[in-house]
Amino acid sequence: MEEKVSSISLANVAASYDNGSDVLTDVSFNITGGTIYFLTGPSGAGKTTLLRLIYQLHKPRTGQIKIFGKITNNMSRDEITDLRKKMAIVFQEYSLLSHLSVFDNVALPLRVRGMSESKIRALVPKVLDWVGLGKYADEKPLALSGGQQQRVSVARAIIIQPSILLADEPTGNLDDDNASRLMELFIQMNKMFGTTIILATHNKNLIETYKFPVLHIENRHVNFVTKSDTPQTTAKKLWKGPAPKNYFTELSKQFDDIGNI
Ligand code: ADP
Repeated sequence: MEEKVSSISLANVAASYDNGSDVLTDVSFNITGGTIYFLTGPSGAGKTTLLRLIYQLHKPRTGQIKIFGKITNNMSRDEITDLRKKMAIVFQEYSLLSHLSVFDNVALPLRVRGMSESKIRALVPKVLDWVGLGKYADEKPLALSGGQQQRVSVARAIIIQPSILLADEPTGNLDDDNASRLMELFIQMNKMFGTTIILATHNKNLIETYKFPVLHIENRHVNFVTKSDTPQTTAKKLWKGPAPKNYFTELSKQFDDIGNI
């Protein structure tokens, strides 16, 4: 199934803004589907730029980007829209719509995909519960703390069960407990659906604990710090709360329906 073999390939990619000097240069790597990666590098190194390139929000100056084996450089708007249906991005600045409730923010990608309101009403509260925000469904995002808004933006991203999840510092505003809970959620998603996940982070504790392969950006280049994919079973369990093991099983029926839209 295509969902299981998602992959990201960059070949000799360079990126710049407004014809300025390159932020990234000669970047080549190949990510086989179904793995979780950390993306590290000093502030301003180009982590967000790399995620934006993959999500097709920024065009490379040169080089080729392939997603799911397809060259994206000259894709039409419609093709990019189709591609994005299988990808989700969690922005560092959350990018929530302030005039919509938390529920409606999280429901938005489902509505865009044409899911029925009855299914949306069944699915959204479950995802909000899992990120610990069940009580906040009717609130507007700005009534929430930064960490809570961050979890809303994660809920909005994972609710479409993307094949590729790109997350820019998704735990940046979270305490350790919530950070490990989110990691647990990402790992479950990866195990159950083979989601390829790239997590940009500065959090050394997460990197040391979860031992996922690391893509590191320095001096405009991207290097694999860990050469081979570390089996995910080596990941230590940090989350000590109730086991969320049925979460995705419970949701998979609705997710199947999303796949059929
Ligand atoms: P990181 O996510 O690692 O902090 P970024 O990708 O945000 O790094 O930024 C990489 C470089 O690109 C920085 O020098 C930043 O100033 C520059 N940059 C990022 N976004 C823009 C933009 N929209 N216009 C011009 N320069 C930008």
